[in-house]
This record gives sequence, C-alpha cells and structure tokens, in this order.
Amino acid sequence: TKLSAMRIGYVMREMMPMLRNEATLHDIVLLYETKPDLPPVLADKEMLKQVLLNLGKNAIEAMGKGGRLLIRERHGGPALAGFVAVEVCDTGPGIPKAALDRIFDPFYTTKENGTGLGLSICQRIVHDLGGRIAVSSSEAGTVFTVLLPCAASGL
Ligand code: ADP
Ligand code: MG
Repeated sequence: TKLSAMRIGYVMREMMPMLRNEATLHDIVLLYETKPDLPPVLADKEMLKQVLLNLGKNAIEAMGKGGRLLIRERHGGPALAGFVAVEVCDTGPGIPKAALDRIFDPFYTTKENGTGLGLSICQRIVHDLGGRIAVSSSEAGTVFTVLLPCAASGL
C-alpha cells in the first residue's frame, strides 16, 4: 500500500454515487456528516474506499427496505488525539451480542449468499493503515467506527 495524506470527504465524494444508488434501491436515506476543520488522514484511497463501501453495503443489507444510513466524520477526541473517526451508522436490527465476537472472522456470515469476508478484509486494511475498527450495536441499529491516523503535519 502506498499511503498519502487525504481528506475523508475526497474519498466519500468518489463513493457517494455508488452508495446512493444502492441506498435508493432500498428506500434508504443516505446522509454524510462532516466537519470543516478535520485534518487529513494517512491512507490509501482505494483501500479506504473498499472499507467504507463494505461497511455501507453491510448496513444497507442489514436494513433491507427503508431506514437511514449515516456516515459521519469526527475528531478522535481527547482520548484519541491524532485520529479521525468515521462512523457508519444504520437503523437496522442490530447484531446479537453472541455474534459480535465473530463478525470479523473470515467466512462468518448470516446471509444466504454471503462470503463472510467483508469485515475481515475491512479489519485487515484498517490495521494495515495503522487504525482500528470497532462496532457497537443495539436493537436500534449498528455503528461501525473506523479510526484512522491523521497525516502528521509538517512531515
Ligand atoms: P457478509 O456481508 O458476506 O455476510 P461480512 O464479513 O461483511 O460478510 O459480515 C459478516 C456478518 O456480520 C454479516 O453476515 C452480518 O451477520 C453481520 N453484519 C455486518 N454488518 C452488519 C450490520 N450493519 N448490521 C447487522 N449485521 C451486520
Ligand atoms: Mg459484507
């Protein structure tokens, strides 16, 4: 992978048409929320697109028909200074507690035609980029959080 400094918004702009298309087909409202003062991250554009597309597609598949897909960019916050967080939030049925430990395992799928590879690939890519991926889920929906290291300014 060849890493360079980029803004998430730039990656989002390239992904949005594809995701919007998918969302519209499923009567899902797609929202993207960002902040003007977010620093660029150090990443590989194609890799990052693959991660966010996988998470977006999973969210849409989980919701089926109707719902809201929100992709939100935020500062890592004081505990995670030096990181930007991208949250992929859906209003789907959520992930049962017992399954949460397994969703990142290769070949774990609950879908008839699933490969179970999406999240394991996402996790590997994010780790390769020096970031982290986490999930939290309830009956109200699921949030995947991708933390990516900021591109160090002045380097
Ligand atoms: P696949 O999409 O091929 O099933 P993934 O690795 O992408 O494989 O996802 C693994 C499993 O994690 C899915 O089959 C599903 O059970 C669960 N999952 C992933 N994302 C979500 C989500 N947003 N909401 C509910 N369940 C999810
Ligand atoms: Mg998937």
